[in-house]
Amino acid sequence: MNLRFTDGNENNLFRHSGEGRNPVFTGDIMNEPVGTTGLILNEPLLWEKGKKGRAGFSFPRSDVEPSPLPPELACECPDLPDLSEVDVARHYTRLSQWNFGVDTGMYPLGSCTMKYSPKTNERQASLPGFACAHPLLPAALSQGVLRMMFELEQYLAEITGMDAVTLQPSAGAHGELAGMLVVHAYHKGKGVQRKKIIVPDTAHGTNPASVALCGYQPVAAELNDHGILSVESIDRIMDEDTAGIMVTNPNTLGLFEENIRRIADVIHSKGGLVYCDGANMNAVMGIVKMGQIGADVMHLNLHKTFSTPHGGGGPGSGPVCVKKFLEPFLPVPRIIKGKSGYALSSDYPQSIGKVMAFHGNVGVMIKAYSYILSMGPENLKKASHLAVLNANYIKEKLKGTLHLPYDRPCMHECVFSDKNQEPYKVATIDMAKRLMEYGFHPPTCYFPLVVHGAIMIEPTETESKEDIDRFIEAFKAIAQEAEESPSLLHDAPKACKVKRLDEVTAARKPCLAG
Ligand SMILES: *Cc1c(COP(=O)(O)O)cnc(C)c1O
Repeated sequence: MNLRFTDGNENNLFRHSGEGRNPVFTGDIMNEPVGTTGLILNEPLLWEKGKKGRAGFSFPRSDVEPSPLPPELACECPDLPDLSEVDVARHYTRLSQWNFGVDTGMYPLGSCTMKYSPKTNERQASLPGFACAHPLLPAALSQGVLRMMFELEQYLAEITGMDAVTLQPSAGAHGELAGMLVVHAYHKGKGVQRKKIIVPDTAHGTNPASVALCGYQPVAAELNDHGILSVESIDRIMDEDTAGIMVTNPNTLGLFEENIRRIADVIHSKGGLVYCDGANMNAVMGIVKMGQIGADVMHLNLHKTFSTPHGGGGPGSGPVCVKKFLEPFLPVPRIIKGKSGYALSSDYPQSIGKVMAFHGNVGVMIKAYSYILSMGPENLKKASHLAVLNANYIKEKLKGTLHLPYDRPCMHECVFSDKNQEPYKVATIDMAKRLMEYGFHPPTCYFPLVVHGAIMIEPTETESKEDIDRFIEAFKAIAQEAEESPSLLHDAPKACKVKRLDEVTAARKPCLAG
């Protein structure tokens, strides 16, 4: 990066533009960050914008006499605004500019994998043969889709080190529920139902929720001083009434559960099963086979790791991968490969049943299939290496500026806290809001709960070093502001379209009408 510094201070690529106090990048013009102010236009509702008589179309003159509708068809016209084409084009374009997404800039939201997904995979998903396939077509006329799904199951089994896969669940949490139902069905098959599941303190909120939905009682497992589970703590709480453990690896502190193999031994020795939450597979894909380190059931988030953007409310896909002995419990219908091609079979009497309409979210599967094939094993592994390298780079560069509660190598994300800014009465939320004025989406705030004032940063494998450096410099500049003029942070964001929200009022008196 060829940067020029205006004030000789090499630690700060940003300076203030006087009165407005918006950060201005002082480096090379070619390397300037996305603008943080500018022509973001206000936009009224279409109803407020319409003017009687305007139209966005022109029909040729009619060559037949007008005739009134028969009375039984006549009704009052709906109240639609009259708008010209340019009104409509600008309206939707302006609204789209109020949005921030991965295509706009860096989105370092921890535990979310907001990485860039190659557009080519969207293209494969929209090929007419896929996009026009109807889920009710018989298997004989759906051979291409079924083959894609069958092979995707096999690739995912290989990546995770598991034996069988269902693609039905449509989200991570949905996969957790399906996986927990498999655990439940397994114990039922053994004749004795157990009541509890061990869930570590760091778990994603969906974990205890899925456990509870399945009728189990979550039992908290504490972390050791290194931010991970110890064999002893699990040994203390695991008993014959506990159906298993649900463990996220790497955990939500971004740390690898190094004791997982021995923890799995403890769980198995008392008849329990090990569920692995594999939502964040971009830290370990091609490197760790969860099946080989003791997992019996795990889910993946195709809409994080495998080329569907996470966020935006769906659609998603949360396949569940299991060891051979749990295959009979997977949802039906299952895709099988016979002499006359691919077929759907529901001949699995111990199955937990169907968990999703039709085949699941096939479009997301096609993108994952296309991503896996276009990357190949070596590049999948490289993506994991880069995700881990980028997070460790940020951790090393920002430690000291921000307090780092667990100072050890991390996986795909790192967790800081606002402890160093406490003397200036600046909190995580203030820094997160100020970061928007530097052109970055804030990181995940106040999660995981085990770290007070947590700032959880996940750069992902797709950010360039230049963008990551800008992010680091922005955070350093903000930490300096916290010392010198904390009010800048308390009042942030001022330059954004939406200013600081009153979160208490928003929570107490939600305005649900929009
Ligand atoms: C994202 C995530 C989930 C939930 O996935 P959804 O698709 O949002 O339901 C579960 N566990 C972990 C660790 C996650 O990061």
